Amino acid sequence: MKSGYIICTRCKGNGFLRVPYKAAREEVTVKCDLCDSQGEIPEGLEEEATEETESIQ
Ligand SMILES: [Zn+2]
Repeated sequence: MKSGYIICTRCKGNGFLRVPYKAAREEVTVKCDLCDSQGEIPEGLEEEATEETESIQ
C-alpha cells in the first residue's frame, strides 16, 4: 500500500460493493466509487462509519 493511503472504508479494500440481495433481487457487485475499485483511498478521504444503508447520490 502506498504511504498516505488507507484501506477503503466503503468496500474494505475489495474494490467492489455487494448490493443487498433484497435490493437487487440477485447477487450483484458494483464498482466502489469511493476508491474507484482501487481498494485504497488517500488518507483523509475515509467515510464515517454510519448505518449500512447505501445513500444513492
Ligand atoms: Zn472502495
